[in-house]
Amino acid sequence: MSDRVPAPIKAIRTYCLDCTGGNDAETRRCTARQAGKGSIDASACHLWPWRMGTKADKSRSNKVPVKSRAVRLECMNCMGGSSEAVKTCPSAKCALYPHRLGRNPNQAHRKPSLISIEKLKAYRFKPKSRAHTTLNKVVEP
Ligand code: SF4
Ligand code: SF4
Repeated sequence: MSDRVPAPIKAIRTYCLDCTGGNDAETRRCTARQAGKGSIDASACHLWPWRMGTKADKSRSNKVPVKSRAVRLECMNCMGGSSEAVKTCPSAKCALYPHRLGRNPNQAHRKPSLISIEKLKAYRFKPKSRAHTTLNKVVEP
């Protein structure tokens, strides 16, 4: 059995529809204030840009948190800013629950592809230009 959970964007969409009683139009029209970047602000909502479950709505601000981060911040709002309370949240049925720590559990065991490893190796072991090697440093007498 797969232990994959809904992607953050789907979790946010479900949460928003729960919030508006399943009303798509209400969700679109949601008047919640968009929370400032990274702020813990119970009077605003970090999920607002992602509420429609599609690409980010930047009509209010260009500063949009990535989806996992938005979930994390909203969970922090929900728990009054306590990371411990978010960690021990008892609401396992909440749509945001799997993503409440700000990480996508579906990617927890994701390994880098061979291509990206090779690119990283090539970058790390790229010979430095002669101008930057110690051999070319002028040693003062
Ligand atoms: S953006 Fe926030 S306030 Fe608005 S519908 Fe979603 S969860 Fe509710
Ligand atoms: S997962 Fe827990 S902390 Fe996060 S919004 Fe839901 S009830 Fe609140």
